[in-house]
Amino acid sequence: MAAATGAPMSTDAVTGMPCLAVHGGAGLVERTDAAFLALARAGLRAALAAGRGVLEDGGAALEAVEAAVTVLEDDPCFNAGRGSALTSAGLVEMDSAIIDGSSGRMGAVAGITALRHPVHAARLLLQHGPHVFMIGPGAEAFARDHGALSATQDWLITPRALLQLSRAQATAGALVPPRGTVGAVARDRQGHLAAATSTGGLTGKWPGRVGDTPVIGAGTWADERLAISCTGHGESFIRMVFAHSVAGAVRHGSSPREAVASALARIASLGGSGGCIVADRQGELVLMQHQDMFRAWWSGAQEQVAIFGDD
Ligand code: ASP
Repeated sequence: MAAATGAPMSTDAVTGMPCLAVHGGAGLVERTDAAFLALARAGLRAALAAGRGVLEDGGAALEAVEAAVTVLEDDPCFNAGRGSALTSAGLVEMDSAIIDGSSGRMGAVAGITALRHPVHAARLLLQHGPHVFMIGPGAEAFARDHGALSATQDWLITPRALLQLSRAQATAGALVPPRGTVGAVARDRQGHLAAATSTGGLTGKWPGRVGDTPVIGAGTWADERLAISCTGHGESFIRMVFAHSVAGAVRHGSSPREAVASALARIASLGGSGGCIVADRQGELVLMQHQDMFRAWWSGAQEQVAIFGDD
């Protein structure tokens, strides 16, 4: 993956409450495929509407982030649920995490191959599990016992994901970030925060590889001050426990914006790249990435969808 050192960082900052932001993955986005970009924008708008509806009805941040991520998991434009990136063996293995910042409850699943909505499996674990993090068939059996929907590999695998894998394999098996991991952060009327992230990981990843998304504190975090969902080169985000290090900097007095900028600079220094979305308890949103990032946000009267760094 190309190092992002020196790449300009783009930021959007908005104030308001309740609020919600969603992302659909970071990286360099091709500007030429107008039809795909229009579909992706529509998908982001639909996810934002689902989460916003929950918050406007007085629902919890936790419900809002699950609703938004569920929409993106069903959208084949994104690398989560249907449309997930494929392993080097040509199969889908998905990861997800969800965190309720006010209660500190959380659930995470990895290596999911046969569920339609990994974020729901994570949510079920948050709600019912004595455990926080489960993998593979055990996680799937638990989720199914609690009513989660199954999905076949045939349904999860899309022509676009197959094409991305064959391109990756043609370039000597390079790990290609497919730029479509999805996530959401929200602040509800009560001031509670929540974050959720869901992904198929990197195209061409080894079977069994787990990225940052379900690793609590690396790709996903929420507490009473801040909620954060990340996307990018997962190994770099795990190495620096990215999301929790942003939360720690905020706890020690940095603004979310400063904390994210310096954490992303560190990702670049590790040879990685990516981005994240953050909501804080004042209802401020920060969306920041090295290159481009599929993203949308709602705060007060303002609603916006963006893809490119200079949007
Ligand atoms: N962070 C994800 C992973 O490494 C991939 C992405 O965000 O595109 O699994």
